[in-house]
Amino acid sequence: MSDAVQRADFDRYMVPVFAPLDMIPVRGEASRLWDQQGRDYIDFGAGVAVTALGHAHPAQVKALTEQAGKLWHVSNYYTNEPALRLAKKLCDATFAERVFFCNSGAEANEAALKLARKRAVNKYGPEKIDIIAFNGSFHGRTFFTVSVGGQAKYSSGMGPNPAGIIHVDLHDEAAVRRAVGRNTCAIIVEPIVGESGVVPVDPAFLRLLRELATEHDAALIFDEVQSGNGRTGALYAYMNTGVVPDIMTTAKGIGGGFPIGAMLTTAAIADEHFTPGVHGSTFGGNPLACAVAEAVFDVIRSPEVLEGVRRKAAHAARRLRAMGQQYGLFSEVRESGLWLGCELAGSMQGKASAFMTASAHNGVLHIVAGPNVIRIATSLVISDEELDEGLDRLEKTCAQLSAR
Ligand SMILES: *Cc1c(COP(=O)(O)O)cnc(C)c1O
Repeated sequence: MSDAVQRADFDRYMVPVFAPLDMIPVRGEASRLWDQQGRDYIDFGAGVAVTALGHAHPAQVKALTEQAGKLWHVSNYYTNEPALRLAKKLCDATFAERVFFCNSGAEANEAALKLARKRAVNKYGPEKIDIIAFNGSFHGRTFFTVSVGGQAKYSSGMGPNPAGIIHVDLHDEAAVRRAVGRNTCAIIVEPIVGESGVVPVDPAFLRLLRELATEHDAALIFDEVQSGNGRTGALYAYMNTGVVPDIMTTAKGIGGGFPIGAMLTTAAIADEHFTPGVHGSTFGGNPLACAVAEAVFDVIRSPEVLEGVRRKAAHAARRLRAMGQQYGLFSEVRESGLWLGCELAGSMQGKASAFMTASAHNGVLHIVAGPNVIRIATSLVISDEELDEGLDRLEKTCAQLSAR
């Protein structure tokens, strides 16, 4: 039997919950990827905002290989040095005083939601379990997190959803005031809504959520799985809003491609309500993942890297807006650091997937956020040359599609 594999094997062997492009990437370096045929691509998706340092970054490779020769896994009967170092750094850099490690964004949110409920039920009794969440939001794919997420297509048709979840529209002040009450245990929000189009939430609305959460002693949870870890040019997006959550979750970019998630909170919330045995994870906080994430974190928290994100983002937004004007395919370009959403217009309205496929043929791999938004999430350390080369290739797509 041959070891050679091709795209057709996906349809033959894999559960078809995804529909990947025809080409198969086999190697990456910085912001460039190569496929099986040796064609190169500029990576404008970064594995959905994951590969924050691009591909094969020396600091990441060093951390991984050094730790791989030392210790991979010990279980939670013991702690380990990389986890302790990373937790300390996360607490030093944020509002948080306690960290729980897991393996993904969904798991981080699962932990946050369980903690918020546990706390409220401990303090006030079994009625206080309501979770306020927002239409269009995305919080992961476990059953609890799809139920809390605001996209029914991900949570329907699988039997009864967990009770006590209330969805309202973002920025609908009256609706959120009606929804929050004495039985609210948590309000969960993405400070910048990722999967539904890279849409920043108005800081005034976040302040309202903060006030309502405080008034009803509910936990304000910020889902920074995608917006965190330098993506916006701030270390975490909350830092630019003037609003501090009680619980923050993150994943994606923090591991730079190695699976890891984290839930961050205060000592008061964690120590009293997440006591030994209440929650856990076999792999969460394993030394290999934490060693890689520590190396990634050391790079992305540097002021030069964060400043670079803001500078390159402004440049990309300028060029994308100019393309929008010239080709008439973008009605709006939203920039939240190296995380951009181009709202499609004209003949490409509603055809984000077709746009993405055309771009791949032109050698640039951006992603989408819903049917009408082109999403660009580059490495945070993409070079100016790679950025412009990717934008040139994207412009080629615009020229082709507007001429059609
Ligand atoms: C991707 C994402 C998640 C889910 O993360 P996984 O690692 O896929 O479980 C949760 N919330 C937000 C905002 C995300 O972008």
